[in-house]
Amino acid sequence: MPPIIQLEHVTKIYRMGDVTVSALLDISLTIDEGEFVAIMGASGSGKSTLMNIIGCLDGPTSGRYFLGRHAVSEFDRDTLADVRNRKLGFVFQNFNLLPRASALEQVVLPMLYAGVPAAERNRRAAAALTRVGLGSRLEHRPNQLSGGQQQRVALARAIVMNPRVILADEPTGNLDSRTSMEVMALFQELSGAGITIVLVTHEPDIAAHAARCVVLRDGRILSDTHSVPRRAQTFLAEPSPEGPKTQEGKTRPVAGRSPVSERSS
Ligand code: ADP
Ligand code: MG
Repeated sequence: MPPIIQLEHVTKIYRMGDVTVSALLDISLTIDEGEFVAIMGASGSGKSTLMNIIGCLDGPTSGRYFLGRHAVSEFDRDTLADVRNRKLGFVFQNFNLLPRASALEQVVLPMLYAGVPAAERNRRAAAALTRVGLGSRLEHRPNQLSGGQQQRVALARAIVMNPRVILADEPTGNLDSRTSMEVMALFQELSGAGITIVLVTHEPDIAAHAARCVVLRDGRILSDTHSVPRRAQTFLAEPSPEGPKTQEGKTRPVAGRSPVSERSS
């Protein structure tokens, strides 16, 4: 697969008055299309800074970043906004949902910016929510959803524009381990569908679900290793009071579930 993300000698220095912080130092990193990469490292090691650069939210102080075949530094503001909207999907630790908006409205939003016609917006938003197991929660607001369900709404919002890449910064940081596995199963399903995933975590149990793990320390790459990903065990198929239901009210088995014998660890 061709590279989709390519950083060449990227350095990021934050200046605050007289104080400078070198958040990234000479990072060269290539991620191929379809890869599922975990970024690990202690707090302050530069993970979020790296994600902000990959997500075109911030530029490097020096070095070059190519997204696909394009040098990101050559994009103007409108192109950057368009790339973020159409090519990249973002998932955050705190879900970043609008408190008063329904699940459907949250997922409609990126299509609103992109000028997708109204009828198509609603159809695609409902389909994306169904894909993440929330087909019967379209009208629920964040405070009417569990943490795992809120993160799945955020995932639906991230995939509704059919992005090439999903960037997730500690997406399971606010979730319990069981709910984390449901979310990781969804990431694995999206990865299986060919979407490139870059996921920041400080939990080795979460990183084990990616096929590649890049560890940062003090703004540098400490290690970059490939391994057989662990299959996320999902519990979505089990009957549970808050489990996802189909429109008929039956629990729904979800792809990504695998027998124990298939799992590797
Ligand atoms: P991580 O996500 O791994 O915890 P960050 O990328 O957030 O690390 O931060 C890396 C370093 O850069 C830290 O020392 C942090 O204090 C500093 N830093 C991050 N963002 C800023 C900013 N906007 N201004 C100044 N310093 C920053
Ligand atoms: Mg961070």
